[in-house]
Amino acid sequence: MDWYTNPGVVQKDWSKENLQELRRKLITANHVLHNHGVVDAYGHISIRHPQKTEIYIMCGYMAPAIVTSSDDLIEYWVKDSSTVDPNAKKGYSERFIHGEVFRMFPSVNCVVHSHAEDVLPYVTSGVPLLPVFHMSGFLGDDVPVFDIGEMYEAGEQQDLLVRNANLGTGLASRFRIDAQSTSSDPEHNVVLMRRHGYTTHGADIETAVYRAIYTKINAKVQTDSMMLRQAFQASTGTQAYAKFNFEPLTEDMRTGCMKMNTGTQDKPWKLWVAEVEKSSLYINRG
Ligand SMILES: [Zn+2]
Repeated sequence: MDWYTNPGVVQKDWSKENLQELRRKLITANHVLHNHGVVDAYGHISIRHPQKTEIYIMCGYMAPAIVTSSDDLIEYWVKDSSTVDPNAKKGYSERFIHGEVFRMFPSVNCVVHSHAEDVLPYVTSGVPLLPVFHMSGFLGDDVPVFDIGEMYEAGEQQDLLVRNANLGTGLASRFRIDAQSTSSDPEHNVVLMRRHGYTTHGADIETAVYRAIYTKINAKVQTDSMMLRQAFQASTGTQAYAKFNFEPLTEDMRTGCMKMNTGTQDKPWKLWVAEVEKSSLYINRG
């Protein structure tokens, strides 16, 4: 058995992580997500407090690229997404995405929410997002779509933001396979949000960032593939020249690639950190 079939990945014990190091890594993760176009001025990442699991941490109301120090971070209670410090500065209205995923799934320690442009066609067109290449096995056999429009009550401001616990619960529950499931582990790794963006998670920062970045890359590859195929068929006037069908990973491939993805995602993280550390835009005094 070689390394790829048995990578020997041991999940780190989150409760033994050093809080200060994690807060610094969270700042770096904000920069990495910006550097890869997962977030712009909008979008966010959070972590669960390693020792006080009833608390989560994310930056205040600011663009992720300019998060600089530990002072930029805010602690929230998982139970209701209120601030631990009653005098905390302004935070994100969409923190409920993070709070409700942490509340519903104790194994989740990091959450990323994005409006990445490459993914937006899949939350507006109705075309399903499919795992189309080997780095995206984590997308699984179905990427559900959360439609906030179904949750609004008459008279409510319909700005599509997940800005209360009820809407956050609605989104978080889509990480379960169906309404009957009461699983305390997420059964999906990515949930698309209709007319809005997507949310993903991980047991650590590296996993959630990997999934956020490769969801975006997969979406672009899928769009490019479908358009190229259409253009090719239109230009030749026949499908006869296409060498194979447009198809996502098979079930066995998804399982195999998911295993490989988990076993290798420490490699891109080190590259991504090196990239942001060399850029003068990103400052980390955490
Ligand atoms: Zn959003």
